[in-house]
Amino acid sequence: MEPATLWVAAAAGGLTALSLTAFGLRLQRHRGWHWWTAALWAACAGIAATASGLPWLQAPALILLLQWPVVTLLGLRRFHARAALPLSGAVDGAVLAAGAALAVAAPLLMADALRPLAPAAATLLVHLYAAAIVLAGPGDREAVPMRWLGLTIAATALAPLPFTWLGPDVAVPPAARALAAMAGALVTAFVAATLACERSERQLRDTHRRLRTLANIDTLTNVPNRRHFHELATQALRADEPSSATLLMFDIDEFKLINDHFGHAAGDRALCLVSGSLREHLRAHDIAGRHGGDEFAALLRGTRVADAMTIAGRIVAALQRQAEAVALPPFSLSFGVVQMLPAETIDDALRRADLALYEAKRQGRSRAVSAEGDEERPVFGESRRLGLLAA
Ligand code: GH3
Ligand code: MG
Repeated sequence: MEPATLWVAAAAGGLTALSLTAFGLRLQRHRGWHWWTAALWAACAGIAATASGLPWLQAPALILLLQWPVVTLLGLRRFHARAALPLSGAVDGAVLAAGAALAVAAPLLMADALRPLAPAAATLLVHLYAAAIVLAGPGDREAVPMRWLGLTIAATALAPLPFTWLGPDVAVPPAARALAAMAGALVTAFVAATLACERSERQLRDTHRRLRTLANIDTLTNVPNRRHFHELATQALRADEPSSATLLMFDIDEFKLINDHFGHAAGDRALCLVSGSLREHLRAHDIAGRHGGDEFAALLRGTRVADAMTIAGRIVAALQRQAEAVALPPFSLSFGVVQMLPAETIDDALRRADLALYEAKRQGRSRAVSAEGDEERPVFGESRRLGLLAA
């Protein structure tokens, strides 16, 4: 290529590197950013060194040019660490080695006329490979800017070819060259910035999601914790008429004995069995949570006490069927069941359900007891024995 074109390319590359540097300094992008930026600065220095025409600078110039696709490829491998790229890293190595061999060794073996083309062919090969890797990469949310990056790398590699074929007689106006180089540089800067923003946003979203889960979900049983249950139940009661819902409060009977006789891990398995059984028997719009220790609560929307009692029976029957499969003795639950009152808060209803649960324990456990009346004067209604253990 003519020196004028090379100087324009070096200037455009320098502009891109400058914008990437400013972007990285201002926003502290992901870890590989400064490597990518440094590699682009080095590549610009390589183009400038080539343009200078100084013979002793040509070998270092080639190294500076070839490192750019190498760093790009390594960066992409890191960028896509979790979503595999189509070809293994070994193929990268082979292509890069072939490019280096072509650039360094081929000129020694080639005819004089072809010799100047060897470095250009080497950079073309490596750039096209890098472009192919980017274009064939995973089609996730980052795919669109990645496609742009791939097309830009390919265009940068292929753009000089028509001028080579057209020969030295065809004069391409320097302004057109400058515009083309600028456009390429701007696309690269834009793509790199978009990718970095996309990645940072995704990381932020993932972190938010993880934190939300940690704050809301009980890590052992994978159901909402006490605070989140309150939140969800309060939300549901705002949407529905409270008196249409039934609240269950329940607790494993003699849970301490399971822990004492079979170990804490067995106790944990029992808790998970209860939460699994809840997921199995409640509907998607019902709300369940671990209230603490071996105590759970469930808000059954649009349900009357009689139906809630039946569901409690199913939960216990399922637990007792499944206990053996996880090396546990059959165990039972006691339930306090209340129909929510008009305009009642979840806290008030929980207190009433707790009294009913206490009554179920007092009556001998493994049963569901319903309660009406207020907290000071509860009136206990139906008391239904549950499960295989109920005599
Ligand atoms: P009751 O029939 O009256 O409910 O008797 P209980 O033995 O079940 O008594 P209680 O409900 O008070 O027992 C709660 C026990 O649960 C006490 C505590 O050691 C145990 N526990 C609390 N959290 C966990 C946990 O995450 N894993 C295990 N394995 N045990 C827990
Ligand atoms: Mg208990």
